[in-house]
Amino acid sequence: MRLSRGFIPTIKEIPSEAQIASHRLMLRAGLVRQTSAGIYAWLPLGLRVLRNIERIVREEQNAAGAQEVLMPTIQPAELWRESGRYDDYGKEMLRIVDRHDREMLYGPTNEEMIVDLFRQSVKSYRDLPINLYHIQWKFRDEVRPRFGVMRGREFLMKDAYSFDVDRAGAVRAYRGMMLAYMRTFQRMGLKAIPMVADTGPIGGDLSHEFIVLAPTGESQVYYDASFEGVDYLADAGTPDLDRFFADITARYAATDEKHDTAKWAEIPEADRREGRGIEVGHIFYFGTKYTKAMNATVAGPDGKMFHPEMGSYGIGVSRLVGAAIEASHDDAGIIWPDAIAPFKAAILNLKNGDAACDALCESLYAALAGDALYDDRADRAGVKFNDADLMGHPWQIIVGPRGAAAGRVELKRRATGERVEVSPEEALAKVRS
Ligand code: ATP
Ligand code: MG
Repeated sequence: MRLSRGFIPTIKEIPSEAQIASHRLMLRAGLVRQTSAGIYAWLPLGLRVLRNIERIVREEQNAAGAQEVLMPTIQPAELWRESGRYDDYGKEMLRIVDRHDREMLYGPTNEEMIVDLFRQSVKSYRDLPINLYHIQWKFRDEVRPRFGVMRGREFLMKDAYSFDVDRAGAVRAYRGMMLAYMRTFQRMGLKAIPMVADTGPIGGDLSHEFIVLAPTGESQVYYDASFEGVDYLADAGTPDLDRFFADITARYAATDEKHDTAKWAEIPEADRREGRGIEVGHIFYFGTKYTKAMNATVAGPDGKMFHPEMGSYGIGVSRLVGAAIEASHDDAGIIWPDAIAPFKAAILNLKNGDAACDALCESLYAALAGDALYDDRADRAGVKFNDADLMGHPWQIIVGPRGAAAGRVELKRRATGERVEVSPEEALAKVRS
């Protein structure tokens, strides 16, 4: 993309309601614009990040054996009456009446709809296990939407739903999703820690929230320092899920609600970590709660009908854009992790109209195809430096007249600020690696 033509409306005046860094930076760098309270339009730069996050989520869900579907945003109230949640959900649910006076709603989550799809088509234990997911916009009429896309009213969520014959199968599905989540967040360059979470009125012990550490997070968290070094991508192929789960749950990590002060006291003081965190995912085993309530049954080997065991698994796709910025920024702007950055590199032409500068920039831009944002504007160098730092591209290739004449460019790594003078070929190789 050429910045002179790109729809990237950066702003200097930050709206006063933007209280935290990610919200301010997303507005300043032109990633999103609010269209009404808690509802955002995604502009080209922000949308590229959202799509990158979505792609990694999708790849890891597929790799874990989940199958993608796409359910609608609008759901019939009827299904929610069956589960008993139509009234329970209260004011967070956006209720809609169509022209025939049918009660509809904008889905805040999809347990009811997936159970309905399941019960229409799956008749036998032989069709299990099955795990279905979609990546779809949700609406929750939050009392206090805030922090930009982190607590919006309309937001993009990946939600998966597993169906198994028995508890053992459901637990296996749960552990598989947990591993997929750890890989997903690590690939995004984020340190997320699975924390024992409240299971609410459903009970049981199987619920984890995935928390990205950041001082502005809404959750108070406690965890063992050993989490900081785990590499979830090291064990490629098919790892032993039970061993993985045992290894993870042996370490202490809990949110405030589930904090166990006795267990905490047993951890050597040097290994205790506490701080704030952002919930970016939440997984849940809830057994037959919905299959019973909505009478979804399949035939077992003995011909007897039974209610399958379920789990549900959410990732806050749009919240992750904000969370990644909270976890990685400085006073100058965003510092994107490589895997989710909107562009791998910015090419800064410090002297537009200089024949050598223009030619070198054009060739770099062509070589990087869609991966570079070319700052070809007529602005001063200082403006370009500031905007590149603000937008947070992992690399900046800086092309000035003297260097261009000598066949040299400056390559800057945004995360460290390190600048080296290299040949254009070396710059391209670094950016691509
Ligand atoms: P929270 O406690 O933050 O309100 P939740 O527990 O109600 O979230 P879940 O039902 O677990 O949310 O939804 C799955 C994921 O969707 C969450 O882990 C979070 O990342 C994301 N999410 C939930 N609510 C919002 C929201 N209002 N805006 C953006 N993302 C959200
Ligand atoms: Mg949650």
